Amino acid sequence: MEWSEELSGGLLLAAPDAILVLDEGVIVLANDRAEELFGYPRAELLGRPVGMVFTDDSRAMHDEREPIGAVATSVRRKDGTEVPVESTSAVVDTPHGRLAVSVVRDLTDRAHAEQEKARLRAETQVHRSQRLESLGQLAGGIAHDFNNMLGVIVNYANFVIEEAESAEPDVKMIMADARQVIRAGERGTDLTHQLLAFARREVVRPQVLDLNTVIGEVEEMLRRSIGEQITLIVRPGAHLPPVTCDPGQIEQLLVNLASNARDAMPSGGNLVIDTEAHDDQVRMRVSDSGRGMAPDVVEHAFEPFFTTKASGEGTGLGLATVYGIVTQAGGEVSIASSPGLGTTVTVLLPAASGSLSAPDLSDSAPVKGRGETLLVVEDEAALRDVAGRILSGAGYRVLAAECGPEALELAAAHQGAIDLLVSDVVMPGMLGKDLAERLCVVRPETRVLYMSGYAQPVLHTHGTLDPGVALLEKPFTANDLLIAVRRRLDG
Ligand code: ADP
Ligand code: MG
Repeated sequence: MEWSEELSGGLLLAAPDAILVLDEGVIVLANDRAEELFGYPRAELLGRPVGMVFTDDSRAMHDEREPIGAVATSVRRKDGTEVPVESTSAVVDTPHGRLAVSVVRDLTDRAHAEQEKARLRAETQVHRSQRLESLGQLAGGIAHDFNNMLGVIVNYANFVIEEAESAEPDVKMIMADARQVIRAGERGTDLTHQLLAFARREVVRPQVLDLNTVIGEVEEMLRRSIGEQITLIVRPGAHLPPVTCDPGQIEQLLVNLASNARDAMPSGGNLVIDTEAHDDQVRMRVSDSGRGMAPDVVEHAFEPFFTTKASGEGTGLGLATVYGIVTQAGGEVSIASSPGLGTTVTVLLPAASGSLSAPDLSDSAPVKGRGETLLVVEDEAALRDVAGRILSGAGYRVLAAECGPEALELAAAHQGAIDLLVSDVVMPGMLGKDLAERLCVVRPETRVLYMSGYAQPVLHTHGTLDPGVALLEKPFTANDLLIAVRRRLDG
C-alpha cells in the first residue's frame, strides 16, 4: 500500500488524541483534536512555538534533536485552564528535514477517576475508624451496664447468704434480696436479647398476628416505661388485616421507638401509636411531640451505632434494630421529623394472606411433669444444674450429661424410656444436632428440644426456625423451660 496525503489526513482525523508536528519547536501541523484540546483555532496554532500550549519547559520535551518517550505534563488552554496530559514524541526524517511528532493525550478523565478513588479510600477509612470508635463506645457501655448488674447480683446474693446464716433469718428480707438478684438478671437478659436481635442471630418466629392485639399487650408496659409526664395514646385502626411477624420483635420495635420518644420529651408530651389498613399493607405510626431531629440526624438515624446521646446513654442500636426487624418482615420504615415539632416513625408491613395463629400459651400456669424421663445435655455446668433442678423440681426424672458422647453412654445404660432429649445446640465434641440424630437411631420414640443462645447457622440458614424443630432460647426462665418441655412432650 502506498502512503498518501489522504491517508495521513485520515489518520490525523481519526486519532482520539491531539497530534502536533513540530519543526524546530514550531507547530507546523495540528489535527482537529488538537484544536479542541488546546482551545485554539488551527490558524492560531500553526507557526507558533509549542511552548505556547505546554506549561512545562516543553521545548526540551518536544525537541526533535533529543526525542524522549511519554511524559506526564499539562497544557494551558487558550481560556487559561490547565488540562493534565500525557505527551509522547517521536522523531521522523522527511524530505523536508527532521520533524518531531507529538501525540498529546487528555488525562482529565483518568485524573478524575484517580481523585475519586483517593476520595473514596479516605472516606472508607473515616467510616472504618468511626465504626471502630462507636464499637468501642458500645463495648464500653455494655461492659458498664453488665458490671452494674453483676455487682447487684453478687452483693444481693451475699446478703441472702448472710441473712440465711444469721440466728433469726428474716424470710421476707431474704426474699426481697433474692428478687433484686432476679431483677438484675432479667435486665441482663433483656440486654443480651437486644444485642442478639441486632446481630440478627436470634431466632425469628414469624406468625400471623393482629398488630392491634400486640400493641394492646405491650401498652401497659410502654406506659410505665415512658413515665407519667408523657401521655400514651393508642389509636387502633379498624378492620386491620393480619401481618406475618414475630410478636417479640414487634414488642422490641415498640420499646425502642418509645424509649427514643421518651428521650426526646424530657419535660413531657404525647406519644401516639396508630394503625391503619392501607391497600395490601398495614401502616403503624409512632409519633412524639418531642424535640425532633435535624435533617442530618434523620439521614443517619438508622445507621448502627449512630447516636447523638452521651456515651453510656445511647448505643445507637435502637433504630438500626427497628430497621432490621421491619425489613426482615418484608416491610419498610421511614422517619419524618423536624426540630421542635416532633417525630413520626412510619412502619409499613405487608398484609398476611393466612389466618391468625393460635394464641401462645406462655402466660398460662407452669406445667408440671408426670414422671417422664428427660436427658439434659449442656456443656456449661451452671446451666445444666439450673435446668436439672427446675425440671426435677417439676416432677421429671432427669439424666444429665455434659457432652454428646456422655449422653449416648447414659442413654445406652438407661433401662426405661427416654421421653425427651433437651440439648444445647453448640457443644464441643459433638453438636446437638448430631447427638439427636444418633440417639434417634437407637431410640426413635425420643423427642428433641434444643436450647440455644443462637441457632444460626447450626440449625438453619435463614434466621427462621424450621417448623419441625423445637428450640428454647437462652437465657430462659423456669417457666419458659417448663412450658417448652411440656409442649414438646404433648405436641
Ligand atoms: P440511641 O437512642 O441509642 O441514640 P437510636 O438508633 O435509637 O440510638 O437513635 C439514633 C439517634 O436518632 C438518637 O441518638 C437521636 O439523636 C435520634 N432519634 C431517634 N429517635 C428520635 C426521636 N423520637 N426524637 C428525636 N430524635 C430521635
Ligand atoms: Mg434509642
